[in-house]
Amino acid sequence: MLHQFSYAAPRSKSELFSILDDQGANAKVLAGGTDLLVNIRNGVMKPRLVVDIKKVSGYQGISYSPTEGLIFRPTVTINEILRDASVRDHYPLLQECGHDLASYQVRNRATIMGNVVNASPCSDMAPALLCLGARAVIASSKGTREVPFKEFFTGVKKTVLSPTEVLESIVVPASSAGGRGAYRKLKRINGHDLGIVGVAVYIQGDLLRIAASSSAPTPVVTPDLPADISVEDAVAAIKKIISPISDVRCSKEYREFMVEVFVKRLLAEVRK
Ligand SMILES: Cc1cc2nc3c(=O)[nH]c(=O)nc-3n(C[C@H](O)[C@H](O)[C@H](O)COP(=O)(O)OP(=O)(O)OC[C@H]3O[C@@H](n4cnc5c(N)ncnc54)[C@H](O)[C@@H]3O)c2cc1C
Repeated sequence: MLHQFSYAAPRSKSELFSILDDQGANAKVLAGGTDLLVNIRNGVMKPRLVVDIKKVSGYQGISYSPTEGLIFRPTVTINEILRDASVRDHYPLLQECGHDLASYQVRNRATIMGNVVNASPCSDMAPALLCLGARAVIASSKGTREVPFKEFFTGVKKTVLSPTEVLESIVVPASSAGGRGAYRKLKRINGHDLGIVGVAVYIQGDLLRIAASSSAPTPVVTPDLPADISVEDAVAAIKKIISPISDVRCSKEYREFMVEVFVKRLLAEVRK
């Protein structure tokens, strides 16, 4: 039987923060619910209260300015990102990753915030955010703090967020706009499936970053590398930070091999 829980749908941030302060770890935020409800159904999470943030004023929409960059708010779904002209024009890598996340129906509900807070090692949106140097803006009744995504994930399904905090926006800096990026995801089946390995490569000006998912306890990104780095050195840089495991989907050796294959292919593609 489905675990019983109460439901709240605050309309303001002050109402939201007061609920979270009151309930602490007994409450769970609901955005699209595509991870949360599966976890509740499977008994992995047993919140006493589910707090739907879709009606909170100010939590809707995507904005872009050439000085501030791109800002995602908590209800932005993957399909909204795929439709957004400013994402397409300035940060198309986010759309490449989004296209690979689940099915059209799931993408209609799934949010980018839920994807990163869920902190799965195989998150499809994390590689783009890591390559683009995005920041998490985290809010609570005590104020806001900013954390770069390379410090946001702390372990399998773990982040720096405390139970009374909300991921209030994702900021993709203006300085990251306009580069060339590409993403590849290896799946067991041709349709929608979680990744066995995901790799993103991003070149902008004279710097290059490579990010990988499903290859370590958290999604990972290399330090800034020179854009003209040799293929061998680029492969060595990503191999230094991954630590793949063997599981039901494949062996760690195959994961490591495919990361190398994807880095080589993606470098050739973005350097064309
Ligand atoms: C059939 C299926 C296929 C899938 N395929 C993929 C795939 O290919 N790739 C992939 O990466 N994922 C996949 N997923 C996982 C999921 O769809 C994504 O992770 C999705 O982006 C989660 O977003 P959501 O809005 O549904 O999150 P929710 O389920 O609402 O929330 C997820 C977690 O984040 C918390 N949370 C959400 N928003 C906030 C916030 N603003 N502040 C604080 N906490 C918050 C919730 O409390 C919960 O713990 C799949 C899921 C399903 C059911």
